[in-house]
Amino acid sequence: MKKRVAVIGAGPSGLAVLRAFETARRAGVDVPEVVCFEKQSNWGGLWNYTWRTGLDEFGEPVHGSMYRYLWSNGPKECLEFADYSFKEHFGRVIPSYPPRAVLHHYIAGRVEKSGVRAYIRFLTPVRNVVWSQETQTFSVTVKDLQKDEHYTEQFDDVVVANGHFSVPNIPSFPGVEGFLGRVMHAHDFRAADEFTGKSVLLVGSSYSAEDIGTQCHKYGAASVTFSYRTKPMGFDWPETFEEKPLVARFIGKTAHFIDGTSKDVDAVVFCTGYQHSFPFLPDDLRLKTNNRLYPLGLYKGIVWEPNPHLFYIGMQDQYYTFNMFDAQAWFARDVILGRIALPDDATRDADIKEWRAREETLTNPFEAIDYQTDYVRDLVSATDYPEFDVDKVAELFKEWEHHKVEGILTYRNKSYPSVFTGDMAPAHHTPWMDALDDSLEAFLSVQKSAE
Ligand SMILES: Cc1cc2nc3c(=O)[nH]c(=O)nc-3n(C[C@H](O)[C@H](O)[C@H](O)COP(=O)(O)OP(=O)(O)OC[C@H]3O[C@@H](n4cnc5c(N)ncnc54)[C@H](O)[C@@H]3O)c2cc1C
Repeated sequence: MKKRVAVIGAGPSGLAVLRAFETARRAGVDVPEVVCFEKQSNWGGLWNYTWRTGLDEFGEPVHGSMYRYLWSNGPKECLEFADYSFKEHFGRVIPSYPPRAVLHHYIAGRVEKSGVRAYIRFLTPVRNVVWSQETQTFSVTVKDLQKDEHYTEQFDDVVVANGHFSVPNIPSFPGVEGFLGRVMHAHDFRAADEFTGKSVLLVGSSYSAEDIGTQCHKYGAASVTFSYRTKPMGFDWPETFEEKPLVARFIGKTAHFIDGTSKDVDAVVFCTGYQHSFPFLPDDLRLKTNNRLYPLGLYKGIVWEPNPHLFYIGMQDQYYTFNMFDAQAWFARDVILGRIALPDDATRDADIKEWRAREETLTNPFEAIDYQTDYVRDLVSATDYPEFDVDKVAELFKEWEHHKVEGILTYRNKSYPSVFTGDMAPAHHTPWMDALDDSLEAFLSVQKSAE
């Protein structure tokens, strides 16, 4: 009987797995039957925008954490697929920092072209996964949301690709329950226009705080205040911005900080990160980690160490995204196909510990970029995923870091060359701060030539 593989989630990670198997099938390899379960009605994961927050029309937790007006926060040249360039998809070169809809179009274009939609069962969340030692198979129970019915099927391997930026991590602060304004987590943030003319406090000092803060400024917020736990982001902020240490308490509309200062604000957005959440997995199969470049328990960051029939894609902290998920997907595929023989438990464990030990030594973003570059290189060299110059990608990431320091509101106006086609991206027709229309049509309308 043909082997069966279940993929959980049709975001960029799950789609990479489908693409990996389909590429092998088209090359004449006898591949297993692959079934992808996706709880939303369309593919693209976080890039599939929803206006909803909280629960959806079926009473399911809303997956989406992305918002209107979200533009890529890194150069597209760093996430470009090695087997499907932006130029191939759009038929021409496009600027380096596309808005969400453009990236969704690109992700969808590749999988549309490879015809993998037929492998996906939409509106079908996975509810439960159980491993049988006796039959050496997984029982996967899912719910067909439209029919309002559960059913269970058997699989030889399971690939978990449900993302880890969806279930919010929400701390509490004294007095927050009495705060006289809007309080939300970044997961529920949808439109910056809501804060036009308002003073916004963002608790956190990572990408979400930085991006939601600059967006609120772009759409007319009166002031933006960040509150950090460990250290300020330290960018060259406009004068309506401030960075404060941690909030000690809220009284009325006033946030009091641990340095004794205070600020009156209209809204508080907790940009306090996300939890890795796998409610469908029992404890013995469940990855328990915070947001790390090298989560423990996963050989090559992918294969569940105690049971190598279970795979996780995209569970790392991410500089690299789409092309790293591809490299992981190709690796998982080749383990499943028996093309990559796994070493014994002790060797796998030692390998994980070695990577993790190196992660512990990283002291700044540049070292972290080099680390993830080495990780991607290691994976790409193990499979037939098109070889690409990861050192060039690392250079682009480092340039990007410098551009952010030069100007946090202007870095998105920069252009970078494609690692795959060599083409320099053109400048966008409108500087990012003035580009209020984030639609695909507006973005693709006549471009200027490259700077
Ligand atoms: C606000 C925000 C902005 C970001 N901006 C960028 C950016 O600019 N550039 C960049 O490269 N990356 C960005 N990222 C990182 C992002 O994580 C990746 O780009 C990418 O979306 C991760 O893909 P994924 O498939 O691993 O996860 P997701 O995109 O989260 O997809 C997971 C999929 O699994 C499905 N799913 C979940 N649970 C179940 C279940 N039980 N059963 C079935 N299906 C399920 C979900 O519906 C979803 O479709 C951003 C993330 C956030 C939160």
